[in-house]
Amino acid sequence: MRAQPSASHFIGGAYFDDNDGPHLESRYPATGEVIAALNGASDATVNAAVAAARTGFKVWSATPAAERGRVLRRAADLLRERNRDLSVLETLDTGKPLQETLVADAASGADCLEYFGGLAATLTSEHIDLGGSFAYTKREPLGVVAAIGAWNYPIQIACWKAAPALACGNAMVFKPSELTPLSALKLAEIFKEAGLPDGVFNVVQGFGETGARLVSHPDVAKVSLTGSVPTGTRVAETAAHTLKHVTLELGGKSPLIIFDDADLENAVSAAINANFYSSGQVCSNGTRVFVQSGLKERFLQRLAERTAKARAGDPLDETVDTGPLVSTGQFDKVMGYLEAGRNEGARLVCGGGRLDVPGLPDGLFVAPTVFADVADHMTIAREEIFGPVMCVLDFDSEEEVIARANATEFGLAAGVFTRDISRAHRVIGALHAGTCWINTYNLTPIEMPFGGYKKSGIGRENGHAAIEHYSQIKSVYVEMGDVESAY
Ligand code: NDP
Repeated sequence: MRAQPSASHFIGGAYFDDNDGPHLESRYPATGEVIAALNGASDATVNAAVAAARTGFKVWSATPAAERGRVLRRAADLLRERNRDLSVLETLDTGKPLQETLVADAASGADCLEYFGGLAATLTSEHIDLGGSFAYTKREPLGVVAAIGAWNYPIQIACWKAAPALACGNAMVFKPSELTPLSALKLAEIFKEAGLPDGVFNVVQGFGETGARLVSHPDVAKVSLTGSVPTGTRVAETAAHTLKHVTLELGGKSPLIIFDDADLENAVSAAINANFYSSGQVCSNGTRVFVQSGLKERFLQRLAERTAKARAGDPLDETVDTGPLVSTGQFDKVMGYLEAGRNEGARLVCGGGRLDVPGLPDGLFVAPTVFADVADHMTIAREEIFGPVMCVLDFDSEEEVIARANATEFGLAAGVFTRDISRAHRVIGALHAGTCWINTYNLTPIEMPFGGYKKSGIGRENGHAAIEHYSQIKSVYVEMGDVESAY
C-alpha cells in the first residue's frame, strides 16, 4: 500500500486538495523517513467540509435506520478484508508494531462499526400512557459532528467516533492528528464503497487550529475529542460559546493495584500490557502500579526478567514487540520524565533511556522502563508520561491504597488484582475511575462503555451509553380529547 494519499482531504465523497493550508508530513518513526506530504485545511476547506456534511446529513438522517446499519456493517467487512494493508499503513504512520496494529486498530474499528451497525435499527423510543392522551419520544440525531483524533490509535479513534454518530443518523467531519493523517482517508474510501452517501463522513487535515475552527463553527452541533486534558479544556471552553454537545476522551494516570494474594504471573502480564503496549502511548494505561509489600520484591524480579525478553526492532517485523515513539516531541518529553524520575530518587529497575536498535539509528526507541520505590509526590507518579515508563509504588493496607489511588485529578481507568472476590468488588467500588478491570487490564471490547471520571473526560464511547451522546430526545404530547382553556 502506498502511504502517500492521492490528496489531503476527503470531502463530499471525493479526495480534495487545498494548497492554501499549512504543509504537514507523516514520518515513519522507526527511520525518520517522510512517507507522505499533505496540506492542512484552509478556512475555506473547513467550511466546505462542514457544508458537505450538512448536505450529507439531510440524506442520511432520512435514511431508515436498518439501511444505515447495513452500510456500517458492510464497512466493517471491508475493514476486515483490508486489515493487513490498513495495519501496515497504521504501523508506518504511528511506529506501533505490526504485531499490535494487526489486532488492535482497524480490527477494533471493524468491531465498532459492526456493533453500532447492529444497534442502529434497534434504537426505538418510548410510548408514555397519560390516561386517554399519550406521549411518545423520538430519538433524533444532533446534526454535524466534528470529531478530532489523537495519534496513538488513529483509525480506531475514527471508528469509535463515526460508528455511533453515523448509526444515529449524524454526519461527521473528522480531523486526525497531524502526526497520523493517513488511515482516516482510507476509512473515508471504505465508507464510500460500503454505500455511505457523499458528505456523511468527511476528513480534513490540519494542526490544532483546524480543530479549533471546527469546534467554533456555527453549523457544527457536537464535538468529540480524543486528546490531552489541556486540549480538552480548550475545546470545552470554545464549544461553550455556542453551547455545543461535547464528548471528551482525555488523559490519565491510572492505578493498577496488586494485592499480595494475586496470581503473580497474571499480574506481571497485566502490568506489562498496561505500560509497554504501543510503547506506553495508551490513555488508559495503569502507570501507577501499587504492589502490596509482601509481593513487591518477587513482582519486581519477575517483571525485570520478563521485560528483558521484549524484542525491539523494525515495527514492520511481526516478531517485534517494542516499537518507537511517534515523534521527536514525544521522545524528548519521555526522556525528560526519565531524568526527573532519577533526579527525584526513584530506583531504576530496568530501561531508563534511549534504546539503540541495530540498523535503525534514527528510530525514536525508548527502553521499557521500570522505576521502583516511587513516592506519590514524584513528578513521574503525578503526570501523564505517555511512554514506556512504569512506576511501582508500595502499599500495606487496602484503605491506604484506595486513598492514594484516588489522589489524582485524573479518573480514566483503574485495575485490581486479587483472588479475594469481595475485596475486588469493594476496591473497584471505591475507586474514582470510569473504566475498571478486575484481574486483567486494558481490554476494551466495544460492548463495554469507555470513558473517564474527573479531568479524564466527559461522556462515554462504545456500548449503548455512546448512543446517548450522539442523539437527542424529542418528546411529543398527543391530546386525544378537547383543549381546556380559561376563557
Ligand atoms: P492533543 O490534545 O495534543 O491533540 C488531540 C487532537 O486535538 C489533535 O488532533 C490536535 O491536533 C487537536 N487539537 C489541538 N489543539 C486543539 C484545539 N485548540 N482545538 C481543537 N483541536 C485541537 O493530544 P495528542 O494528539 O498529543 O494525544 C495524546 C493525548 O491524548 C494524551 O494525553 C492521551 O491521554 C490522550 N488520549 C486519550 C484517549 C482517551 O480515550 N481517553 C485515547 C488516546 C489518547 P494536532 O495534533 O494536529 O495538534
